[in-house]
Amino acid sequence: MFVDTKHMLLDAQAGHYAVGAFNVENLEFVMAVVAAAQEKNSPVILQTTPGSVKYASLDYFVAMVRTAAEAASVPVALHLDHGDGFDRCVQAIRAGYTSVMIDGSHVSFEDNIALTASVTRIAQAINLPVEAELGKVGGKEDDGPMVAGENPYTDPYEAEEFVARTHCTSLAVGVGTAHGVYHGTPHIEQGVLKAIRSRLEIPLVLHGTSGVPDDQVAEAIRNGVCKVNYATELRQAYSKGYMDYMASNPANFDPKKPAALGMENIKAVVMAHMDNLGSTNKA
Ligand SMILES: [Zn+2]
Repeated sequence: MFVDTKHMLLDAQAGHYAVGAFNVENLEFVMAVVAAAQEKNSPVILQTTPGSVKYASLDYFVAMVRTAAEAASVPVALHLDHGDGFDRCVQAIRAGYTSVMIDGSHVSFEDNIALTASVTRIAQAINLPVEAELGKVGGKEDDGPMVAGENPYTDPYEAEEFVARTHCTSLAVGVGTAHGVYHGTPHIEQGVLKAIRSRLEIPLVLHGTSGVPDDQVAEAIRNGVCKVNYATELRQAYSKGYMDYMASNPANFDPKKPAALGMENIKAVVMAHMDNLGSTNKA
């Protein structure tokens, strides 16, 4: 089933679990993530960054994900991750994405509101959900470097005003996570999360979750997170499988063989996360 994320996230919120949003890079990622969701009987969000969209195109990802979703019995959504401007969001919606994120976290509070509201106005006309970001998730998801010394945490009072003025349907929050590979153990500020939750009713989104210990993620879900993003771990799993195969079979020139091991690795990572997020058997 090819669906949008709105009811998926509201169901998760009501059921006190989270839906995994897994970044896909190519056909193999799409097949592996949907196969994992099917096996776990779990709803799933596949998402692409502007970097992946530039590598292939919006149309390629829509065609691949729609094909996988229509053959699956579980709900599958396709989301634009870190939408880098009004134009990209409109293009994604027109191409067939079932939800978009507009990332205005790198501009001022007022400019973020104006940018986000411009996207929600278009999306809501056709009833599509919009994720926005307030505060900063550290690290690098394509671009948007963290400025040293800047407070990365989302201010709960600002969040309340932001949602009221933009009408976004979910919010990515800065609570201590970062994109990419962690050096040292990451730490989610659960108190900040609780304070945001107490002022907002919409689903909250956790970015930069690759490498965050499962117990911290589970606690974040108890504190109101309904969508959890994983990108780096899938890239690592795929590349490792591919390279392991080639290391053992250096004469191989059939790309399907190393890719099969990469897909197996992605599937294992995704299935384990679905159990921890609580989305298993929630399709
Ligand atoms: Zn992110």
